[in-house]
Amino acid sequence: MFNVDNIRKDFPILQREVNGRPLIYLDNAATSQTPQQVIDVIVDYYSNYNANIHRGVHSLSQEATDAYEQAREKIRAHFNAKKSHEIIFTSGTTDSINLVANGFSSILESEDEIIVSALEHHSNIVPWQMLCERTGARLKVLPMDENGELLIDELDNLLSNKTKLVFVNHISNALGTINPIKTIIDKAHKVGAAVLIDGAQSCPHIKPDVQDLDVDFYVCSAHKICGPTGVGMLYGKEEWLNKMEPYRGGGEMIDQVSFEKTTYAGLPHKFEAGTPNVCGGIAFGAAIDYMNSIGFDNIANYENELLHYATEQLLEIEGLKIYGPKELTHKTSVISFNVRNIHPYDIGTLLDKMGIAVRTGHHCAQPIMDFFKIPGTIRASFMFYNTKEEIDQFVASLKKSILMLS
Ligand code: PMP
Repeated sequence: MFNVDNIRKDFPILQREVNGRPLIYLDNAATSQTPQQVIDVIVDYYSNYNANIHRGVHSLSQEATDAYEQAREKIRAHFNAKKSHEIIFTSGTTDSINLVANGFSSILESEDEIIVSALEHHSNIVPWQMLCERTGARLKVLPMDENGELLIDELDNLLSNKTKLVFVNHISNALGTINPIKTIIDKAHKVGAAVLIDGAQSCPHIKPDVQDLDVDFYVCSAHKICGPTGVGMLYGKEEWLNKMEPYRGGGEMIDQVSFEKTTYAGLPHKFEAGTPNVCGGIAFGAAIDYMNSIGFDNIANYENELLHYATEQLLEIEGLKIYGPKELTHKTSVISFNVRNIHPYDIGTLLDKMGIAVRTGHHCAQPIMDFFKIPGTIRASFMFYNTKEEIDQFVASLKKSILMLS
């Protein structure tokens, strides 16, 4: 039974005050909060079995290795990858995308094309621009409409037998738009292009099945899904991971090293040079357990209720404009908005004084802001531990801020 009051007890941070007011945390799209169950796993690791993994014969090293590899297996099961060595631990979404962009350096040729959507976070744009500079390949952009939804039919005009890779986010961090990734994957595969899905924003709301999607690469960060920062994952189909060159050289990723020639380890170690974030990986697994104990259907239903509740109230405020899909079934619990010509930063600062955390700015998505000809927005993003009472408080404080700034 989904009970938000009980769930909130799992999150110690939700008990604190900010500027003398109870914290109302609505910046979940930037990073989610961490439940006690995950904090306990982190404390247990450093209290009881902190050790370097994979190489040690001693017990602590064995225990840490087992826990780390069990976490990889949990992640595999959660995303329904076929094999656990198709899950590569990284430091997060950005790192995972850079790993794939680097891997494609030796696959792309100068006549090749790659396609990005107009709705991307900078971390799903810049590594590909750098790849184009290295290889001479061309970057094309799938456009969007005024509602912040991709013009999916345009993809047919962009795709050709020159297209080698298409990369889009599942959900836009700036607008909350849910993109039709299955259609994109199917269309791209028809011309033989691989597809990378940036799941940074979808992983806390939707449980994807990478085999059912038939996606080539799927990336996400643990800190968006109630885990710690500094750890994330790349799922890649085995055949692609085998084709790609390693991203970083060093310990752990080798088979044999001599000054004449080095051979690389097999998957997943080929892409995991150096001592990894052992504790982070284990806590990532614990975060996935936690999310599954709440249940992704429960999470989606409840967050959808919050989205409707907040949208209705916000739209009653004179001069408030919400960016992104009008049809709420096309988005998740992210509301990006502006009020008349008041600068988002001013509203964000006043809300903070009242204990309310929202994000203001371009949300690492400047092309989207340029499209709407605005410097930025105020973004309120909800998770399953937020409440309708918090939304009431947020709307009342927003109205107060608008009055103060008018
Ligand atoms: N893509 C999207 C859609 C995101 O929302 C984010 C995080 N804001 C990222 C990529 C980058 O994630 P990280 O900073 O954890 O690498």
